[in-house]
Amino acid sequence: MKIICIGKNYAEHAKEMNSKVPEKPIFFMKPETSLLQRNNPFFYPEFSNEIHYETEIVLKINRLGKYIEEKFAHRYFSEIGLGIDFTARDLQAECKKNGHPWEIAKAFEHSAPLSEQFINKNDLPEQINFKLDINGKIVQKGNTKDLIFSFDKLISYVSQFFTLKIGDLIFTGTPAGVGEVKIGDRLKGFIEEKLMFDFEVK
Ligand code: ZN
Repeated sequence: MKIICIGKNYAEHAKEMNSKVPEKPIFFMKPETSLLQRNNPFFYPEFSNEIHYETEIVLKINRLGKYIEEKFAHRYFSEIGLGIDFTARDLQAECKKNGHPWEIAKAFEHSAPLSEQFINKNDLPEQINFKLDINGKIVQKGNTKDLIFSFDKLISYVSQFFTLKIGDLIFTGTPAGVGEVKIGDRLKGFIEEKLMFDFEVK
């Protein structure tokens, strides 16, 4: 199983990171060990002092495919979940400055909290609202109408580079409003009004 994460897929987020809106999708990967499920707590790692949340809609691939045409891409996922792409922003800044790969900043242990539950896409509106609540306050809100590259486009693009397999996950990018988490925070993620995850930072 692989986890593919899309970068800069919402214009307002690209802007807050002082980067340009990309002309084609940008992606990176996380290993299976980055998953954190069942609302288990996230233990703040000792190697970073600046862990940021990025709340993202997650697609679960349900059939094998490569070189998937955009017009057929909708057949390759039926369920939608919610995850966080935890990012060690301090390490990422150093990687960026030195032109190094991002794995230490993005792919570390439990850097991908994920909802246990996935929702059938037919039970969701075309334009999906999602949000993150920390300690009772909404800190991040998104709607998939603001995606730069649609779900179908992402699947088509990524599948040119490698075979997508059943169970692979695509984190589709974060909207604006990323920020830090602190020890003691309680994070609740919602798709529409449905609670998808609820866990603590320890
Ligand atoms: Zn992200």
